[in-house]
Formats: sequence, C-alpha cells, structure tokens
Amino acid sequence: MTPVTVFDGKRVALFGLGGSGLVSADALRAGGAEVAVWDDKEPAREKAAAAGHEVLDLSRADWSQFRALILAPGVPLTHPKSHWTVEKARVAGIEIIGDIELFCRERRHIAPKSPFIAITGTNGKSTTTALIAHLFRFFGHEVAVGGNIGTPILALPPPSPERVHVIECSSFQIDLAPTLDPSVGILLNITPDHLDRHGTMENYAEIKERLVQGADHAVIGLDDVPCVAIAGRLRARGKPLTCISNTFMELLDGITLDGTRLVRHDHGVALTIADLAGIASLRGRHNGQNAAAAVAALEGEGRDLDRVRRGLASFPGLAHRLEEVGRLGKTLFVNDSKATNADAAEKALLSFDNIYWILGGKAKAGGIEPLKPLFGKIAKGYLIGEATEAFAATIEEAFPIERCGTLDVAVAAAARDAAKSTADPVVLLSPACASYDQFPDFEKRGDYFRTLARAIIDGTTGN
Ligand code: ADP
Repeated sequence: MTPVTVFDGKRVALFGLGGSGLVSADALRAGGAEVAVWDDKEPAREKAAAAGHEVLDLSRADWSQFRALILAPGVPLTHPKSHWTVEKARVAGIEIIGDIELFCRERRHIAPKSPFIAITGTNGKSTTTALIAHLFRFFGHEVAVGGNIGTPILALPPPSPERVHVIECSSFQIDLAPTLDPSVGILLNITPDHLDRHGTMENYAEIKERLVQGADHAVIGLDDVPCVAIAGRLRARGKPLTCISNTFMELLDGITLDGTRLVRHDHGVALTIADLAGIASLRGRHNGQNAAAAVAALEGEGRDLDRVRRGLASFPGLAHRLEEVGRLGKTLFVNDSKATNADAAEKALLSFDNIYWILGGKAKAGGIEPLKPLFGKIAKGYLIGEATEAFAATIEEAFPIERCGTLDVAVAAAARDAAKSTADPVVLLSPACASYDQFPDFEKRGDYFRTLARAIIDGTTGN
C-alpha cells in the first residue's frame, strides 16, 4: 500500500466504497487522515465498518469539517448530473479529488523523481499498460502496475526511484486528478466514447489532454484529429514530445509503423526498431500504435534494440483481446470477447482472413453497420444472443449465417465448418456486443469460449 500522508491530521470525506474507494480510505488513514466514508449501498458500508472505518451519512453531515471530498471514479462529477456529494463539496468550497491525485501528491512529497508512466486513450490503454510493464520487467526493473487496470493505484507499493509505476488512467480518473504529473504521459487516441459522462467530445478530449499537459515527457498518437491538435499545442509550448503513428510518416520525428515494422525517425534518419510480424500478441495495426507508445515510454532504456525486440516478442498479451487459444489442424481459435462494440470488432476482422465469426449478444447503437466493408473476409457467421435478428438483417446475403442462440452451439458449429476449409481458417469470437444478455461480463464470456475451444482442440468434446 501507499500511505497517503498529505492529509495527515485532517478530516476528509470519501464517497464510493467499491474496490478503489476502500483502498483510498485505508491509504489515507494509514497516512494519518481522519476519513468519514459513505456509499449508497449497505453491504459496501458494512464492509468499510468491518475494516474499522468511520461510516458517516454524508447527506446529513456538516461539510465544514472536511478538507476534501475523495470520490470514486464511477461517481458522476459533472454529467449527466453532478452527484449530490459533489454539490455538497462545492457549497462547502472544498476540493474534489480521486485516488490518482492522492498518489501524485504523495509522490511529489516522498519521491518526486520516481518513474511514473501514465497511460490514457479511448482504446488500447490496458494493452499498452501491460506491454510497458512487461518491457520494464524484461529490462530488469521492479514494476508496479495498476490504476484502471487491475490493482488500485494506492494498493501498489509507494513510489520510489527504484520502482517504475505503470498506471492506466480512465478519463474519469483524470477528471479527478487536477495535478496529474507523470514522468511520461501517454495519450494513444481519442474517439467518441463515454459522452454520457463527459457531455461533449470537446470536454472529453480536454480531460484526456490534461494527462499529457502535466507530464515531463509526452507521447501522443497522431492518428486522430483531437490528438493532432493536442500535440500541436504541446509542441508550441515546448513540451518534450514523442509523436507516434500507426501509419508511415516519413517527415515526422517519432515512432511510426511501416507495414509491420516499427520505425524511429530522427531528423530525417529512419531506424527500424523491430518487426512486429509473427508476434501473435501484437497482431494488427492498432497494436502497432500500442507497441510504438510502449517503445517511446522506454526512452533512453530503449537504445538496446536487440533487447527491445526480444521484449516485444515475449509479450504474452492480455486475455480476451485477440487472445490465441490454440489450433486444431489448420484452424486457429481466437478469443476477442473484449470487443463489445463494432469499433473493437473491426480491429479483429482487419487482423485475419477466412473468418468463422461468432458474434452477437446485447447490441450497441449502430450495431455492425460500420463493419460492412469487411464482410468479404467472413466465411460464415454464427449468431448468438439478443442481437441475432438485427445483425442478420444487416448481414443480408453478404455471407452465410447460422442462428446458434448460445455460445456453446456457435463454437461447435464454427469449429465443424472451419475444419472443412482448406485455407487457414480462424474461429473468432469478436461479438461486437455487450455480454449482459447471457453472461455477467465479457471476461466470463471469453472464459467460456476458451473452455469450449480448448475442449475441441484437446478432443474432449464430441466434435
Ligand atoms: P482499453 O483498456 O482502452 O479498453 P484494451 O487494450 O483493453 O483497451 O483493448 C480493447 C480493444 O480495443 C481491443 O480488443 C481492440 O479491439 C481495440 N484496441 C486496442 N488497441 C487499440 C488502439 N491502439 N487503437 C484502436 N483500437 C485499439
């Protein structure tokens, strides 16, 4: 844990006792603060009380006693409507901050020069965070990895010059971190997302910009309009900046992708850093952007190209994101359950040919219309869940489909058909849908796919 001492002897209010909220309360108390905690949910309050925290009904409390409101990132700060605790804090004139901000203040206090790499972007955050953590570990460093991915930041060991903190930040977390100042700040991309919570695209982009604004060194993807504008503003202010792109840009100083090769451009001199071809965990152009960002984060450490190459090649990848489950004969089974919308499924379809595509679930607005240009890559579709008829209507006659209802039926049918194919077939779960109609979450859906696929590969089913 990282005890937070910056509120030592002060009284603070904390709302939202999910995973990270409870850890924040522990960290503040360990650092000498008096913390009054509250949550709408009774079981969460009981858990906090059992952990020895002072549970106080903040709706009735006198807010003049508090120095700050510590808010969990899932609680609305501005949109669609500020949470009632936010209103109370504003009336009381106290600041509203989250766990990343607490970490930043503590870091400035105890280890201001410690390596702290913060990663944000609409897509690719978790992959890039995991890859950076992997590379630093591969280079022999002690790494603390967490934030929006896995472990809450304050549950990690404290910042220190000997330890690299690699932290994934969501836009909600950045919104609650007014003095976020990583040593390296990475902004991968910005496309419309979470607008229910941020109001407008401008506001969403402005929040993401803060992570690179406050960084000692910024890394920015130049593959969308908002990010190009942000990079331009930082450059104008003289901020040390590495630009990255998933397309080849000869004139740009930075790291770009030429086919499958990562190339560093420095004052007109191009140097190939690594070829990503054959690295299954970094398949697809989108992963080129993630790999470019990760290599940029290595800064001086990355000069040993042989080590960088071996580090990239040994990245195991993350579960549920183009995860190779295994092969049966020529058929490759891929679990991309994290693809809960068309944008993410597009990345999967771009990465393969001769696809036996399992899709469906709880559809998002727009369905799979945007994927129509890629329908030629599909050998056959296997529809599951609520979205079945809507997706069948979009697909029309573009490729044959089978209405399977559930995932077990779909995997069996896709494996059966793929086995008859002569070209290298891929059985791909990339549903372009949320899972909630049939599964608690995308992880459970992907786990089930993996189990089904493994049973077929190992010959333990009837197929
Ligand atoms: P996040 O943590 O931002 O949700 P992940 O690394 O978990 O991102 O990847 C989620 C999905 O987003 C992947 O399955 C892939 O389809 C897509 N994706 C990953 N990296 C990128 C990227 N750099 N650009 C666009 N899409 C990406």
